[in-house]
Amino acid sequence: SLSSKIDKALKTLKGQGKITEINVASTVKEIRKALIDADVNYKVAKSVTDSIREKALGREVLIAVSPGQLLVKIVSEELTELMGGTKEDINTKGDPAVILIAGLQGSGKTTFSAKLASFLKKQNKNVLLAACDIYRPAAIDQLKVLGEQVGVEVYSEPENKNAVQIAKNAIEHAKKNNKKIVIVDTAGRLAIDEQMMKEIEEVKASVKPSETLFVVDSMTGQDAVNTAKTFNERLNFDGVVLTKLDGDTRGGAALSIRAVVDKPIKFISTGEKMEALDLFYPDRMAQRILGMGDVISLVERAQQVFDEEEAKKLNQKIRKNQFSFDDFLAQIQQIKKMGSIKDLVGMIPGMNKMMKDIDIDDNAFKPIEAIIRAMTLEERENPDIINGSRRKRIADGSGTTIQQVNNLIKQFSDMRKLMKNMNKMGKKGMPNMNAF
Ligand code: GDP
Ligand code: MG
Repeated sequence: SLSSKIDKALKTLKGQGKITEINVASTVKEIRKALIDADVNYKVAKSVTDSIREKALGREVLIAVSPGQLLVKIVSEELTELMGGTKEDINTKGDPAVILIAGLQGSGKTTFSAKLASFLKKQNKNVLLAACDIYRPAAIDQLKVLGEQVGVEVYSEPENKNAVQIAKNAIEHAKKNNKKIVIVDTAGRLAIDEQMMKEIEEVKASVKPSETLFVVDSMTGQDAVNTAKTFNERLNFDGVVLTKLDGDTRGGAALSIRAVVDKPIKFISTGEKMEALDLFYPDRMAQRILGMGDVISLVERAQQVFDEEEAKKLNQKIRKNQFSFDDFLAQIQQIKKMGSIKDLVGMIPGMNKMMKDIDIDDNAFKPIEAIIRAMTLEERENPDIINGSRRKRIADGSGTTIQQVNNLIKQFSDMRKLMKNMNKMGKKGMPNMNAF
């Protein structure tokens, strides 16, 4: 599944149980593959992933802090954007407003028409359903049964074989009966067919709908995109209804259709029952396409385990006033692995203020590291024993000055005091100490 593929892609972001660096290129490739497998059009998948790569690379530092989460966020944002960003409503202005429903046979037009009628009725709109599928005798009965279920009147003329006339008559009927919205359910074919296209074009021209909705079965994959394209060329529809998203969902169709015809998806249908209708929210669909619920929790768990273990160890040491130069060195290594120090410090709440007077560049830790490495293990654990002659030895061994060594030892002992005090104040006082 797409979810497990992205899952796999994201797993490559996690090194040996730690989230450190990210191989953006191979991950982006995996994501592209997964999108294509989910029926996203190749060109669309390529443009999405190109854009994702660009954004990911530009945010290298952030990625290092929490690569998986950030990448998921970037991918999800990109997909959301591609599907139109925010949700779009349907236009129900008119007296009466006419909503024309078009699409292939079996796509779910009749089912959706009744669902939409019910949806609008709940908004206190006075709705009429018009049965304009003149080809299948059962079609009128189907709409009547559904109309009855949702308590909406169905207009039909079983003997009439002219869809345009029936639609017009339905609108007249609506005017006389104070119906504010007419939903016109039309006939479809199993495949694109000239006669069907002509008929629906004529219906559209004569009833002048405020909203033309194209209904498409999300299970039909790439075909859905081609059908959408053809219908849009002939009808210039206003929005898309994606049906059968309850099955083995091929959410990729949503992405491709939006990208190829540039019309918003307005509703999704998720079952045969009348309640199974939802407005389309691009961000939710992005999550669905990515199977992100799983991915996010996976990444968060990994992140949490790492942070918690580190933090626990460190807190114990601090509590016992055992924070050593070695711990300090380990923290520096950790920070260095995460990317540019300046950006990193800027991201840690509180840290920014604490270090605002210090000019930080990525070489700032070099002499500090050198000095610590020149210390013996005993000295690292017990800084108090570092007397004058030891300081001279350390300065010589690290290629620094005694002044620099003194400064570091002073800063370190100040830091230990600070930590001890914060520790007394309780955990709240040191939320980010695990980052240092
Ligand atoms: P039409 O030919 O376009 O009018 O399609 P119908 O509304 O008659 O639907 C065709 C079949 O698909 C029917 O059996 C519906 O019950 C079913 N159907 C419609 N929408 C959905 C959906 O969202 N999910 C599922 N599982 N079935 C649906
Ligand atoms: Mg039908």
